[in-house]
Amino acid sequence: MHIAPGYRGRLAPSPTGLLHIGHARTFWIAVWRAEQNAGTLILRNEDLDPQRSRPEFAKAMLEDLRWLGFRWSEGPDCGGPCAPYSQSERRAHYLAAWRKLRDGGFIYPCTCSRKDLEHAASAPNDADDEPIYPGRCRSRDDAAQFQNPAGVNWRFRVPDSEQVRFADVHLGVQTFTGGRDFGDFMIWRRDDVPAYQLAVVVDDAEMRITEVVRGADLLKSTGRQILLYRALQLDVPAFYHCDLVRDEAGLRLAKRHDSLSIRHLRESGLSPDDVCHKVGVGEISRAPS
Ligand SMILES: [Zn+2]
Repeated sequence: MHIAPGYRGRLAPSPTGLLHIGHARTFWIAVWRAEQNAGTLILRNEDLDPQRSRPEFAKAMLEDLRWLGFRWSEGPDCGGPCAPYSQSERRAHYLAAWRKLRDGGFIYPCTCSRKDLEHAASAPNDADDEPIYPGRCRSRDDAAQFQNPAGVNWRFRVPDSEQVRFADVHLGVQTFTGGRDFGDFMIWRRDDVPAYQLAVVVDDAEMRITEVVRGADLLKSTGRQILLYRALQLDVPAFYHCDLVRDEAGLRLAKRHDSLSIRHLRESGLSPDDVCHKVGVGEISRAPS
């Protein structure tokens, strides 16, 4: 099917709970960027994790996004040239990428237990991030013997001291160093679920996303993902990382699990504009503050 040229952005919510006011701001900016660029907006349902995703949350997140006034022209509810738009239906795409990484020698099977890692891992630089993998299984060379990824964890071999640099549209030039800012990260889980890093790269590439808008908490993940784009020989999109919204106490809104779900605010009588103003954004035609 034909994919129109030009700007392509996406909203990529996870149906693991009710959408939160912190998400609303990021989604608002994604919608605003697409409108500024007269582009196409895609909605992708990131229901990759069968343990945590719920159909009722998927339904609620689409309703809440529509209530906020957001519209998309491709998605699980309306179809499009890159269907399916739910990650749970895209396993074949992720498997193809896993095979490519395996054949290229980019990944290795890891059988470290959680306990092994607790003992050996160095503490991450910031509390939000995962510990740097100590490299216990890194020299394994039996990846080619696996016909399927299930049963072990799969890690991407991050070249030591490799620099990853990109110019963020909003935050400027970002530089990360392999082995220091992040280590060998997971691309497929032992319970046979592809990891977020792999799925999001495969989907953004195949859905021809030209600019990824997401929260600044994912900056380091972007460093990891650029390594995956390179290994899979895919074009790297532009990135626009949004500032994170914090409450009066300095706690990130997206980390709070109290009454700040969009649904709750809506039921308490707030309008979509009220909700957007709460996080410093307003009418779509106006730039975010
Ligand atoms: Zn290991």
